[in-house]
Amino acid sequence: TRSPNSHRTPGSSGTSVSALQGEDLRNHRFDYLIVGAGFAGSVLAERLAAGSNKTILVVDRRPHIGGNAFDYYDDAGVLIHRYGPHIFHTNSQRIVDYLSRFTDWRPYEHRVLAQVDGQLLPIPINRDTLNNLYGLNMATEQEAADFLASRAEPVDDIQTSEDVVINQIGRELYEKFFRGYTRKQWGLDPSQLDKMVTARVPTRTNTDDRYFGDTFQQMPREGYTKMFERMLDHPNIKVLTDTDYREIRNEVNFGELVFTGPIDEYFDYRFGKLPYRSLQFKHESLEQEHFQPVAVVNYPAEDVPYTRISEYKHLTGQVHSRTSITYEYPSAEGDPYYPIPRPENAELYKRYQKLADETPGVTFLGRLGTYKYYNMDQVVGQALALYKRIEGAAHTQGER
Ligand code: FAD
Repeated sequence: TRSPNSHRTPGSSGTSVSALQGEDLRNHRFDYLIVGAGFAGSVLAERLAAGSNKTILVVDRRPHIGGNAFDYYDDAGVLIHRYGPHIFHTNSQRIVDYLSRFTDWRPYEHRVLAQVDGQLLPIPINRDTLNNLYGLNMATEQEAADFLASRAEPVDDIQTSEDVVINQIGRELYEKFFRGYTRKQWGLDPSQLDKMVTARVPTRTNTDDRYFGDTFQQMPREGYTKMFERMLDHPNIKVLTDTDYREIRNEVNFGELVFTGPIDEYFDYRFGKLPYRSLQFKHESLEQEHFQPVAVVNYPAEDVPYTRISEYKHLTGQVHSRTSITYEYPSAEGDPYYPIPRPENAELYKRYQKLADETPGVTFLGRLGTYKYYNMDQVVGQALALYKRIEGAAHTQGER
């Protein structure tokens, strides 16, 4: 168990960072400079160090490692996620096996309720959602399927997210569960968002109330930051937090650059800014053991300014007399979190991608580096795949 004060040095990786300032930094030669200590940067650093004996400097401008998955003990002594709740889920045994080198796991199945018409109802919509919302007593999957079919309003030419949802479950359920949430989350009406955003609405006719259907649903037993600390704890890896790439790029002697920050920022926004949606997090500790029945409650109503409230003890299993929660307020300004899925943005990204392909010595990786909405497991997969390519290329060269 950790001391309640351990939040004071959250995520300091334990590697000899202080020994690497000023002159030392200039006199040192690294095979790789990796920008970003999130999943993308940390996994790649670990593989290059432990798998290929490369030397690596990882820099992150935030005061901690772990990227958006960073967790820490707050002043109340509750383990919370600084950038909103992160739930690990995947179908990939390979990715679980890899991460299991750095953490044990706690089984956790995510459940979400939505506050609609004064009730807390399961989301994705399932038979219980419909029964409770409409005061029905449907007992079979067929009844629920027939009910949804009777509500659906077929749209001939499905173009937008609104079309997708209305076509599947009809306007009333669309307005209660989706319209307001999407408008708040994206700052756009679903009728302005490409159908790809909601390619399929996961509605269920049974009473399964799990949010994800993946084979593996589990949380790192001691939290994400501990897992990252172990990943980066290698004699070949140096970590500098509170350090922006721009501050040190001319100070460091390195071979290759891997950039997991925003690709448009790297190129000084040459073609314009890639649009992102941001979030403001409001963290609160309460003098009570529990706040809500599940880890996340969604608030789709437009007159409520936040989209959801998360209570971490459900995720972590921590037993504590107090509890901590986070409100999420979507915003246009702030850290880049969600690439905005519109065709013109994908086009803009392609221009940056082309420029990246033509720029030697740098590889872009991760959510911001590739302007994709990736979950954690996908970013791990992307980093492992890049490592394999690097290793493959080194072997081919060695054989020549
Ligand atoms: P990041 O974690 O963003 O790391 C990039 C790092 O690069 C950052 O720490 C940043 O400070 C640093 N950086 C950028 N530019 C520079 C620079 N110029 N110099 C120095 N450092 C720089 N995924 C799931 O699987 N399950 C979830 O439940 C889940 N929930 C999420 C909830 C929210 C609110 C958000 C925003 C994301 C969620 N995700 C979830 C996605 C998850 O956060 C990402 O998949 C993952 O963090 C991506 O890792 P990354 O390394 O690509 O990027």
